[in-house]
Amino acid sequence: MPYKITTECNGCGACEPRCPVDAISEGEIYYVIDPGLCNDCRGYYNSPICKRYCPIPGAIVRIPDSS
Ligand code: SF4
Repeated sequence: MPYKITTECNGCGACEPRCPVDAISEGEIYYVIDPGLCNDCRGYYNSPICKRYCPIPGAIVRIPDSS
């Protein structure tokens, strides 16, 4: 269940270099997470590292499971 970056993102970029699978890139307005690459940091960290370094509450959220 990947994570996504919301419009709350202020574009600081703190998350981008931390992602172990290079799923984060700079978008046109704010940073974006490639849902095909994000694996919730499984095998790397015990919680999403991008969320830990993000200074804005609500800027990185889990995409709800659609199943
Ligand atoms: Fe990358 Fe982990 Fe954030 Fe997914 S949760 S975008 S794998 S840092």
